[in-house]
Formats: sequence, structure tokens, C-alpha cells
Amino acid sequence: AAKDQGKNRFLTFENRMHEQLLSRLDQESRLRDAVHRGELRMHLQPVVSVPDGQMVGAEALVRWQDPQHGLRQPGSFIPLAEETGMIVEIDRWVLMEACRTIKQWQDDDPATAPAWVSVNLSAAHLEVPDLTDRIAYALSTSGLPARCLVLELTETILMRDIAVTAARLEELRELGVKIAIDDFGTGYSSLGYLRDIPVDVLKIDRSFITGMTGNGRQQELVNAVIQLGHMLGLRVVVEGIEEADQLALLSVMGCKFVQGYHLGRPVPADELRVLRAAPAVHA
Ligand code: C2E
Ligand code: MG
Ligand code: MG
Ligand code: MG
Repeated sequence: AAKDQGKNRFLTFENRMHEQLLSRLDQESRLRDAVHRGELRMHLQPVVSVPDGQMVGAEALVRWQDPQHGLRQPGSFIPLAEETGMIVEIDRWVLMEACRTIKQWQDDDPATAPAWVSVNLSAAHLEVPDLTDRIAYALSTSGLPARCLVLELTETILMRDIAVTAARLEELRELGVKIAIDDFGTGYSSLGYLRDIPVDVLKIDRSFITGMTGNGRQQELVNAVIQLGHMLGLRVVVEGIEEADQLALLSVMGCKFVQGYHLGRPVPADELRVLRAAPAVHA
């Protein structure tokens, strides 16, 4: 009987594996179709200047309007997209959409439009040989000035092969676009790469801000990183501000740009435009 049970358990395990594989293949093909079927959505989250509270920039964040599961956050499909290489196509879509949307907004209503938009680039994308041409194409077809586009890369990506990456980024910067280090401080990286890699923007990760108000040591750390960025001549954006207290502390530290739920959640561009057009009732 014990032997039979073992066998049953194995069969169950095998069935489960089989199911998981099928569900993965199903997800994969549905995600592949999502791009062509127009199921991707771009949300924009404001980047706000301190202390005047004005929206100066925006970050483009992808969503998937999945007919089976509703609106999905990137955490639930980006990993699969990265494994399968589909991320390159997704990033391209977001890039075009971001350039097109912001250019249109700047033309329609320069007073409320963000001065820049940032898009996230995956590791796979940085390795695509015609990346620079793609970016140039997105800029020329949309008409968005290059200085209004920021490309966000995480430090883990930047650390891969510093010489190759530095050359790649220099090529991109020659177009006039800006490069941001995203999630700064979360990778196991040395600071040495800041010397070799050409960047314009430092985005301090949310994890530095969570729990900051009750922790003097953490405040000193955040303060030091902000000053470091400023001394290197970088634009520093602090991510993940959820409370007024955090904003007040950052303001005292001389932080100039913030992003977070306290300032505004990611929403469709139309919604953000309506919010900006309304008489100031912001945070
Ligand atoms: P990220 O680039 O660091 O984007 C910031 C993430 O933090 C977003 O999550 C945003 O909604 C969230 N966030 C902003 N403020 C707050 C806050 O105050 N509190 C909290 N708890 N969260 C906040 P989202 O949209 O789920 O995106 C997660 C990650 O997925 C992004 O992190 C980025 O790495 C990736 N991602 C998003 N869109 C794209 C894309 O188009 N291409 C690629 N390659 N990756 C993307
Ligand atoms: Mg980002
Ligand atoms: Mg980030
Ligand atoms: Mg992140």
C-alpha cells in the first residue's frame, strides 16, 4: 500500500508539472498575442519637483489588459516576457507610446505637459544591436525632442560588462537622450561604475525610503546618497514616497525630485491630463 501511495504521489506530481507547463505555454502565447491585439496599456506616474509640487516629468509603466484576468501589473508578466525575449517587443511598444503621448501633450498644452518621460529598458534590450536606431526612430517619428526622453536601466544591467555598456550608453547619449540608473542601491554593486558609466539621473530605490522616518541612520544614508548624486552633477529622483513625513524630510535634505503614491499613482495618460488640467488640488 505504501508503494502504491508513492506511485500515486508521483503521478499527481507529474500531472501537476504537466498542468504547469500547459499553463505556461498558454500564458506565453497569450502574452505574445497581447502586443498585436492591442492589449498593452501605458500608465504614467508623475515625477514632482520639490518644494513647489509641480509635475516635471513622468515615468511610463506597462500594464496588460488581459481579457481573462483583467488589468495586470508588470510583476505578473515581465518575468515571463524577459525569459522568452518578448520583453524587447513590449519595451518598444512602450517607447513609441511614451514618445507619441508626451509629444502630443506638449503640443496641445505645454503648460501642463511633463518636460520629460522615462521608459524602462530590460537587459535583453540593451543587447539588441539596433537599439540606438530604434530610439532614433521613435524620436523622429513622434517628433519628441531627444532631451525629453530618459532611458531607465537597473544597476545590475549596467554592471554586466562595463566597457561594452559604457560604449553603448555613450552612443545613446549622443542622440541627446538621458540615461537613468533605476533602483539605485539595491544591486550588489560597487560605486566604481559611476566613474566609468555615463549617466544623467540617479533614481534612489523605494527600499531606502520605507521606514526612513523612524530611523536616523537610514536618514543619514539617504541624505548621503542624495548629496553624492548632486556632487556628481546628476539629477536625483527619490522613488516610493508614500507619506507627507517622508516628503518633508527629503525636502530638508535638499532633494529636488520625488516620485511615489503620495505624489500620484501611475494612471493612464488621459487621466493624468485631466488631473493636471484641474485647478491645483494636489498634495
Ligand atoms: P520601476 O521602474 O522601479 O518602477 C517603479 C515601480 O514602483 C512601479 O511599479 C510603480 O507603480 C511603483 N511605485 C511607485 N511609487 C510607489 C510607492 O509610493 N509605493 C509603492 N509601493 N510602489 C510605488 P510597477 O508599475 O508595478 O512596475 C514594477 C517594475 O516593472 C518597474 O519598476 C520596472 O522595473 C518594471 N517595468 C514596468 N514597466 C516596464 C516596461 O515597460 N519595460 C520594462 N522592461 N520593465 C518595466
Ligand atoms: Mg523605472
Ligand atoms: Mg525604480
Ligand atoms: Mg523597481
